[in-house]
Amino acid sequence: MTAQLIDGKAIAASLRQQIALRVAERRQQGLRAPGLAVILVGSDPASQVYVSHKRKDCEEVGFLSQAYDLPVNTEQAELMALIDRLNEDPAIDGILVQLPLPAHLDASLLLERIRPDKDVDGFHPYNIGRLAQRMPLLRPCTPKGIMTLLQSTGADLYGMHAVVVGASNIVGRPMAMELLLAGCTVTVTHRFTKDLPMHVGQADIVVVAAGKTGLVKGEWIKEGAIVIDVGINRQDDGKLIGDVVYETALPRAGWITPVPGGVGPMTRACLLENTLHAAEHLHD
Ligand code: NAD
Repeated sequence: MTAQLIDGKAIAASLRQQIALRVAERRQQGLRAPGLAVILVGSDPASQVYVSHKRKDCEEVGFLSQAYDLPVNTEQAELMALIDRLNEDPAIDGILVQLPLPAHLDASLLLERIRPDKDVDGFHPYNIGRLAQRMPLLRPCTPKGIMTLLQSTGADLYGMHAVVVGASNIVGRPMAMELLLAGCTVTVTHRFTKDLPMHVGQADIVVVAAGKTGLVKGEWIKEGAIVIDVGINRQDDGKLIGDVVYETALPRAGWITPVPGGVGPMTRACLLENTLHAAEHLHD
C-alpha cells in the first residue's frame, strides 16, 4: 500500500482563488478590500521569507497589504503604539506580528494588545478561549488549515483517535482543541511523554509538530492512518524536511502531507481566510 498525498499546495491555491473571487465581488458591490497589516521586527531570514510570502498572497487575492518592517532595536512601547493605531484603523481587518520577536520584546503582551476581532493569527487568549469553549471566532491558522486538509480526505473524523505530537501554543494545543471539536478522541504528547511510539501507534490521525527532523518513524505508524507533518526543518543542503520519516511512513499511511507543499501553504491560505472573515463578519 502507498499513502495518498494530501496536496496542501493545490487545496490552498483553490482557497486563494475563492477568496480572490469574493474580494472582486466585494469591490463590485462598492465594498472595500480587506486589509492586512504585517509587522516584522529585525531581519531574521526565515521570518523575512514568511512575511514576503504573506504579502505576495495578499496581492494575489486583492487585499490591501500594509508592511511595517522595523529595526531590531524597536522598543516595546513603539510596537504597542503601532498596534493601538492599527486597532483603530478602519481599513485594517487583520494585524499580524511575525514571531519570533527579538529577546527584549514581550510577545505575549504584544499579541494581547491586538484587538481580538483583528487577531487573524488567532493567538489572542480571547480567541483561544473561544475555541476551547466550542465557539471559535478567529481560529489559529495552522490547526485551522489542517482541519481543511483532514476534511479533504473525506474521512469521517467522529470518534477517530487523533494523536498530536507537540503542545505549543501556536500549533499543538489549538490543534488538540480543533480535533476535539471535530469529534475526535485526542491524545496530546510532548517532550516529557514517556512512550511516544506507543501513542503514535494507536493513532488513526497523527499530527506532528515538534520541529525535530525524523522524530516520528514510519514503522510507528498504524496501517492506513492519516499523517499530517507540520514540522519544517532546514537540512544542511538547504532543503526543507518534516518531522516524520516520509519514505518509511509512505507505505504504511493511508494519507500523508508532504513537506514542503502540505501544511505550510494551508497556513498561509487560512490567514487570508481569517482576514476576509474579519472584514465580512466582524467589521463591515
Ligand atoms: P515549539 O518548539 O514551540 O514546540 C515544539 C513542541 O514539540 C513542544 O511542545 C515540545 O514539548 C514538543 N516536543 C519536542 N520534542 C519532543 C519529543 N521528543 N516528543 C514529543 N514532543 C516533543 O514548536 P512549534 O512552534 O509548535 O513548531 C513545531 C514545528 O512546526 C516547527 O518545525 C515549526 O517550524 C513548524 N511549524 C510549521 C508551520 C506550518 O505552517 N507548516 C506553522 C508553525 C510551525
